[in-house]
Amino acid sequence: MKRVILASSNPGKVREFRALLAPLGIELVTQGELGIADAEEPHPSFVGNALVKARHAARAGGLPALADDSGICVPILGGAPGVHSARYAGEPRSDQRNNEKLSAALRDHTDRRAHYYCVIVLMRHGEDPEPLIADGRWFGQWVDGARGEGGFGYDPYFYLPELGCTAAELAPAHKNQISHRAQALARLMEALRQEPSR
Ligand code: IMP
Repeated sequence: MKRVILASSNPGKVREFRALLAPLGIELVTQGELGIADAEEPHPSFVGNALVKARHAARAGGLPALADDSGICVPILGGAPGVHSARYAGEPRSDQRNNEKLSAALRDHTDRRAHYYCVIVLMRHGEDPEPLIADGRWFGQWVDGARGEGGFGYDPYFYLPELGCTAAELAPAHKNQISHRAQALARLMEALRQEPSR
């Protein structure tokens, strides 16, 4: 399997997935490049949405498809923003307004624990009855002031106590080694390696 559709049009995610998969000899083509429209994401769970996105892309494109669904979860807020991370502050989606809204929601809380969650689904074809599913979590804390220029989304406010910096202050290659997405992808690759050849 060398050519795989990536069911995402988020430039930050596309960049990270390409960097992570290139060493494995997998060429990613985005669904946008194939003229495939984004799928709806109607489900309250990350895995439900990732399954829908991967199935939609594999059916429309006639190739294996990889989809991720990810976001930031804050336990003291009941897991919010969760599946609504991309549009937490409404349309049009805006990282700046999302970050302002989450900062406001946490203003009166001392428990600032937060984690990114990512689930990745690989459908070998559009009717695959046994998609490969892998997930990863990246634990940190919400900080009030933005720090760093790298990454995307909530990264400038996602502080990593053990590293003493935010995700946006990490070199891209470093983030790609330890992030929720990197962890999920490593597990997916391990599952792929375990597969008998078909
Ligand atoms: P999705 O495209 O529906 O999976 O939405 C993912 C959203 O979660 C993004 O738009 C970001 O707001 C947030 N997110 C997921 N992963 C990251 C990350 O690595 N850094 C910053 N924000 C992220």
